[in-house]
Amino acid sequence: MPGQPPGDRAVILACSVRSLRQYVLDAECACGRCVHYPLQLMAAGGLAGMTVASLIVQLRCKNCGQRPARVALLEYGSAGMPRTTYDGSARASGWVMMLVGEE
Ligand SMILES: [Zn+2]
Repeated sequence: MPGQPPGDRAVILACSVRSLRQYVLDAECACGRCVHYPLQLMAAGGLAGMTVASLIVQLRCKNCGQRPARVALLEYGSAGMPRTTYDGSARASGWVMMLVGEE
């Protein structure tokens, strides 16, 4: 059933990477760098048993070394999509769940 996040923010943060591997983490740094982390790839890279919260804590910007200012879980990745916006206005479909930072 499309269109529904697997839970609220607290539930998602406590989920394992494995259990959310069909989704994508979207991290935006204060320096403007924006990176997508497909959880499928993170799980395949040995992080399957890690919680999403633990994974987010480890994220660092490759540009400036800061932790991301905003992190969201996306139903769909960036394929064919422009840069993600957090108000959902630029997304044709799929939900966006903010995990870190303001809406
Ligand atoms: Zn940065």
